[in-house]
This record gives sequence, structure tokens and C-alpha cells, in this order.
Amino acid sequence: MKFTSKKYVIDREYPISKESVWKLLSDTNRLNLYIGLFPVNFSNIQKDNKGVLFREAQAKVGGIIPISWQEYPFQWEEKRSYVVERRYLTGPLEHFIGGVELLDSDDGSSSKTKVRLTAEFTPKNILGIAAIRFTGYKSIKNTLKYLDRFLEIDSDDIFEIPQKSPKHKVNLMELSRLEDTLKNWPVNFKYVELLSQYLGTRSDHDVAKMQSIHIAREWNVESDDVLKLFLYATKVGILNLSWNLICPNCRVSKVTQNSLSTITQQFHCDLCGINYDANFDQYVELYFSVHPSIRQAHSEVYCVGGPMITPHIITQKIIKTGSATTFSIPFHEESLRFRVLQVNDIVSIDNETITSPKRGSVEYTDQGWSEPLISAHSDVIIRNSSSSGIIVVLEQATWSKDKVSAAKVSAMQEFRDLFSSEVLSPDQSIAINHVTILFTDLKNSTSLYENVGDANAYGQVRRHFELLTHWIAKNNGSVVKTIGDAVMAVFHLPEDGLKAAWEIQKNVAEFNQNTEENIVLKIGLNSGPAIVVNSNDRLDYFGRTVNISARIQGQGIGDDIVFNTNFMNQQKVAELLKSTNIELTSFRAALKGIDRTMDLFRLTLKD
Ligand SMILES: [Zn+2]
Repeated sequence: MKFTSKKYVIDREYPISKESVWKLLSDTNRLNLYIGLFPVNFSNIQKDNKGVLFREAQAKVGGIIPISWQEYPFQWEEKRSYVVERRYLTGPLEHFIGGVELLDSDDGSSSKTKVRLTAEFTPKNILGIAAIRFTGYKSIKNTLKYLDRFLEIDSDDIFEIPQKSPKHKVNLMELSRLEDTLKNWPVNFKYVELLSQYLGTRSDHDVAKMQSIHIAREWNVESDDVLKLFLYATKVGILNLSWNLICPNCRVSKVTQNSLSTITQQFHCDLCGINYDANFDQYVELYFSVHPSIRQAHSEVYCVGGPMITPHIITQKIIKTGSATTFSIPFHEESLRFRVLQVNDIVSIDNETITSPKRGSVEYTDQGWSEPLISAHSDVIIRNSSSSGIIVVLEQATWSKDKVSAAKVSAMQEFRDLFSSEVLSPDQSIAINHVTILFTDLKNSTSLYENVGDANAYGQVRRHFELLTHWIAKNNGSVVKTIGDAVMAVFHLPEDGLKAAWEIQKNVAEFNQNTEENIVLKIGLNSGPAIVVNSNDRLDYFGRTVNISARIQGQGIGDDIVFNTNFMNQQKVAELLKSTNIELTSFRAALKGIDRTMDLFRLTLKD
């Protein structure tokens, strides 16, 4: 017998902006945990007979009754609506479709939102009818309670989200013991308090996947300070760190590794169906989690496809073969594009053409998009003339800067000092798109040894290394190695490299006040791509950028900083060079081993 479906539609108005309601309800993993749904195991991605992607999901209702279903990708429009469909394979239900719509409030106020929850269940049998009443309807009610709870907290802060159980089992004695150790490191004691508060009060999800940038924003403090705090907290055993390999297409963490040494050059994304090369700038991110000796946090998966998993995607829709769907293009500061999931065919949206007609269209066929670039219409109709169903996303074309990449962390002196064993496996080399390499060398070091004797000269050279290390670390860089009297250092940001070089030259005079023989430093800087490798159990950098940087340093005449046009034209570097306290002279030089002459600049400090 065929059972009729049961549909619920509930409207309720909340004095919360659409933006905040969206943040709360689109984080479906957290929502499902709060409303009492059960953890789910998801399979890799599969295709149904119409070519539409789904994952097979398995869960146990009440921890006992096994159910399984095909879960189709969430479809959503940011700050407007989302919907998800499930076709059950086992269990008392046949089908479910449900979601959330955010509508204007009755009085049109932007600080209020009318939230519409819809859920349509089709039972498979008598048991299903009961399940809908007790489990299905209850979860809708609980979603409303989640919003009520947010109102009760009465906070403007969207980060203060309702928590499932405010009491967590935390080993307070161990935590306070380690906190005391942590305070021996150069950390802000106030942040140490904030961290232990965080570990004691936040949900398992929050403490199992901690991103220092997001937490810094919650605390309203400098993100680099929180990153350093977390590195020290990891060293003393309060936190653990892990490296997450991010798929360049879907930008979701695919593999988690506890050490750089287990990272391999290539990894696989099941959704995109392709192998990718790891890349230190974008695809390897650092997360932290609470150490199990402090708190056992299980980050179970409740939902893999909710909008908040891929926040760079503004709209995601399934388009069946032969049909068309309209996408509205919101005003956006970042450039946007359409992408077909899995095949990753892309059509860019040209932000420059505002004079275009209101409504545009583009077609997708088995050969790909009908055009490579479309104008920024307010609405775009996408017709799917290909032979199978497709999922199209409207997304930000650029990567979020909200990440702590391996490129950034591995260039920090704190990281190198604290985690000297954190190196790649000896047979791996990982690409890095953009890194800044600084080389220094002592001018006339031979005469230094001649004039003051080996022991004195060596002592002076060692103290000059300390001077360099101090200013390099202070500017978020780290010393990679010393080669004789020379130093090679690495920076994530070019402006930090320049600042370090600048401060070193500025402080050499003071350093020389306590020396028998003045030291004179030559410094060279260069930015570009490189590869990161494990060399003698430390992270080292190789490639053309590194070689040129060394050659550029060789063009120094002492008390100067030398770099090329490319380095100088980087935006933040160019801004720094507007300073009136410096003198810049240009010259041309043939660099040894480089097949052409190069335009170079010599920076000297005015007295
Ligand atoms: Zn992917």
C-alpha cells in the first residue's frame, strides 16, 4: 500500500537579521547536533541513473534502529533558502524533502526575519507514520527552539551560538597545570584565560576543529597572537595540531594529517574525482584541536553538505537534463563564477560590464559551457542541454584569506623553534606559490677574522646571527639556515621580509658600538614560487626564486638592501617604499648563472 506524505510548513518571525539567522541555520552540522539528530556515516560520492550526485548515508535512530538513504546535495541561495532531499533505502521512511526559507518580516524591518521551515515526509509503513510524528516533527520544533535559545542568550555576537550541553568533561587539574607551563612562554595571560574558557564551554565540534583566525575574531584580538598562543599551547600539550589537505575545487578538507611528514604530494577528492598536488599556500591548512588528556571531543559528522561547509558558495542548484534554472547574482566585492560540480567546468562572471541587460543566459552541453565569460546580469538562466543532471554552483572565484596555510606557519620562527621535528617526509617536495627569501652576508668577513682573531671573530659572527634572528622572527619570518657567515631566511609576506631587512640594517650601528671591528651587512630579497623539502631534518626551500635571491644579495655593497623590480612592485612593499627615510638607486646587473641582466634597486637608509 502507498502511504500519503505528510507536509509541515511553519512560519515564525524572529527579531534577528537574515544574515544572523542564515549563519545559525545554514551551519547544519551544528544545528543537527543541537536538535538531537543522530550522527551519520556518509559514503563517497555516487551518481544516480539521471547523473545526479548523491552520497549514501547510514545512521542509527536512537542509537538502535539502522536506517540508510541517498542524500542529494543541498541546494541553496545564501541568506534566502536551502533545501535537501533524501530517498530512503532502509528504515520506516520512503522520502524526505525539507529546508528553510528566510522571508521579509511582515513590517519589512531588516532586523527581523520570517523563518519558514518546511518538511515533507513520505512513510514507507505504519512505523513511518509514528516516526514522522515523533522524530520528524520534533526536529522542526527543536530548530525553532535553537533560534529561541539564541534570543535568550541575548547577544549581538553571532559566535555565541546555543550549545547542546554547557557542561563538558574537562580535566581541569591537568589544564591548570599545563596553563602554568604555558605562561612560561611569551604569551598574553589574558588569552590563556580565554583559551581555557573556550575549551571548557564550547561544543565538541568547536574544540575538535579550532581555526585560530576565527577564534581571534571572536575574541577581537590579533590573529597572529592567537596563532602563536595555539602553537605554544600545542607544545605544552593543551592542544594538538593537524594539517588539512584542502581540495582546490570544493575547498573542503579531504584528508587530515597530524604531521607534515605524512603529507604526500598528491591527494584525491572524491567529489571532484581528481588527484591534486598539495600546495603549501592554499591547499595545506593548519587546524588545532583540544588534546585528549584535557577533554575527549568527538567531532561526529551530522551533515556533510550544508551551506556552511562551503561558505564560498553563494548558490548551489541541481539542474536536471533538459531543464533550466535561474540564478540571481548578488552584488559581491569578490569576483564570482559558475562551476559545475565534479567536472569543474567554469564560466567566469565579468564584473566590469554593468551596462548589460538585466537578464542573461548561458547553456551547458556535453562539450561544456556555451561561453567562457558572461556579463554581470542580475539574473542568469542556466540551461542544461547536456545528457545528464548537473549541479551548478555560483561561488567566489578567489580563495578566502581566512586560513592559516602551511606556507605561513612554516615561515614562522616560533613554529620552527617549537616543532623542529615537523618536517616533510624525505622523499616529498611540496610546491609553494609565493614565498619571500632573504639572504644576508657579511662584507669583508675575511678581514674581520684577520683583525680580531678567530675566537673573537667567531663570537661576533654568532652574536650577529642573534641580531638577525631577532628581527627576522619579530617580522614573522624564520631563519632557514646559516651558510658560513651568511643567513637564509623565509617570510610568508614580502613586506615582512623588507621590514626585517630594514630593521636589521637600522640596528647594525648599535650592534657595532660593542664590537672591536665593525660588521657590514649585505642583504638581498626576492619573492616567487619555490618548493619545500626536507633537508637534513628541517624544512628547506629550493628553486629559482631562492637562487636569484642569493645572487641579488651578491650585488650588495654593504649597509644596503637589494631587490628587483618584481619584488618592489608588490603592493605592500611599494607602500613601504614611499617612506622618506630611504634612498633608492636603480642599477642593472648580470647575475651569475642567470641568463639575462636584471633591473635591481639598492635601498639605503638615510641617517
Ligand atoms: Zn573537490
